[in-house]
Amino acid sequence: MQELTHYINGAHVKGTSGRFTDVYNPATGEVQAKCPLASTEELAHAVEVAAAAQPAWGAVNPQRRARVMMKFVDLLNRDMDKLAEALSREHGKTFPDAKGDVQRGLEVVEYCIGAPQLLKGEFTDSAGPGIDMYSMRQPLGVTAGITPFNFPAMIPMWMFAPAIACGNAFILKPSERDPSVPLMLAELMEEAGLPKGILQVVNGDKEAVDAILDHPVIQSIGFVGSTPIAEYIYGRGCSNGKRVQCFGGAKNHMIIMPDADMDQAADALIGAGYGAAGERCMAISVAVPVGDETADRLIEKLVPRIEALKVGPYTAGDDVDYGPVVTAAAKEKILGLVQSGVDQGAELVVDGRDFSLQGYEDGFFVGPHLFDRVTPDMDIYKQEIFGPVLSCVRAASYEEAIGLAMDHEYGNGTAIFTRDGDAARDFANRINIGMVGINVPIPVPLAYHTFGGWKKSAFGDLNQHGPDAFKFYTRTKTVTSRWPSGIKEGGEFNFKAMD
Ligand code: NAD
Repeated sequence: MQELTHYINGAHVKGTSGRFTDVYNPATGEVQAKCPLASTEELAHAVEVAAAAQPAWGAVNPQRRARVMMKFVDLLNRDMDKLAEALSREHGKTFPDAKGDVQRGLEVVEYCIGAPQLLKGEFTDSAGPGIDMYSMRQPLGVTAGITPFNFPAMIPMWMFAPAIACGNAFILKPSERDPSVPLMLAELMEEAGLPKGILQVVNGDKEAVDAILDHPVIQSIGFVGSTPIAEYIYGRGCSNGKRVQCFGGAKNHMIIMPDADMDQAADALIGAGYGAAGERCMAISVAVPVGDETADRLIEKLVPRIEALKVGPYTAGDDVDYGPVVTAAAKEKILGLVQSGVDQGAELVVDGRDFSLQGYEDGFFVGPHLFDRVTPDMDIYKQEIFGPVLSCVRAASYEEAIGLAMDHEYGNGTAIFTRDGDAARDFANRINIGMVGINVPIPVPLAYHTFGGWKKSAFGDLNQHGPDAFKFYTRTKTVTSRWPSGIKEGGEFNFKAMD
């Protein structure tokens, strides 16, 4: 069995803690690798290496740092299929989805090629007599990121590309469930010209995370994952004096107004609800049709589409709509929540509980589910299911529908489907959620905007990627300088003092 490594100081390094976790092929249920779980000492060693390497990298001019990013983009394109294959094999998502995972990370790397422009400071000439004032953005030093399983290429790149373009060293603690692609990305960054020690991958679990949170040299921490862990990391990281941004879970509502194009809305819900087996923080997990008639029409459109979904392994080709979920534990949690929905009185319109795939009986496949007449007190409404389960909550009015989304504790993404510009505009202005789609079900901002939720979906005041990332990974220094004028009358300098 393959034994995975850490990537420290430009080399693959075996784990020395003696602790490992199994990495599965979710399609077959087989263990395909062992992932080392770093000790506090292993993490401390990576920090030492990073601290030694960072000052020289921070002093490299931004244009040269940007050239590393340019080359890295070329290498990502060169190895796209290889990366996507490794990603699908550990995560389970379809091959096109895996390529999308790499692509959406690559786009942030492309944005970081603009580092020379983005890092330009501000200058005030003659702020007073003989006084100039300028602000510069300087790197923080050693930075770290802790990432989730569901985008093992994209989210690490969202963090390390801006951190490194800004002149920092970065230590990545990826998800222990699919750690291979992050290791491959670190290799590619070095092939692109990054000096050793600037990007390191330390695999691990809570012990490695706690070591990051408590290490005095680490200046900033980025986290993406579930809300309870986000809250924990934000609290402990901040109280240790670090700059921290944490992005958590979601329960994204899509409101369907009576005037919406119902085919378009149903198609959108299929992609946004069931794509990637629902394992997306921007998945739509709650449909809120306004009025019973809208709800009936929507359910009628959804059912045949859901029943036509093809669930299978990524090896089955482009025909597959979604693959298995990541682990047996994830499958069990999803099916447990489905059962709670039945027990608490929701109407299970499409029941995927008996789903099984011939030849892949041990894989972690979950059939698609659709619940109707879900109410806000039910667990399937309150909790993030992170599986192929869509809940329909019928609202009597637009006000009730927007109120549902506003009252939910999560605030990552949301959408409204309507032909009414007034309703769409009101929704976009009033909703207390970070990313809003108007007839767009998964409104993920592009690399040059910023990504982030509100409420319990994000902790910290700056978003991911876009201009915010360049703020998060730098600190501002402002210099006020005074050079008393030595110009004498007649325009001659007075160099007497220099004699
Ligand atoms: P997770 O919280 O289980 O794990 C995320 C990271 O935290 C991993 O690296 C893991 O090793 C670490 N971790 C887990 N338990 C820990 C503990 N007790 N102490 C310290 N560290 C710990 O999340 P996941 O299951 O990998 O990912 C799915 C979650 O991520 C979902 O809730 C999803 O909504 C969320 N997510 C959010 C966004 C966003 O931008 N808001 C994006 C993607 C995923």
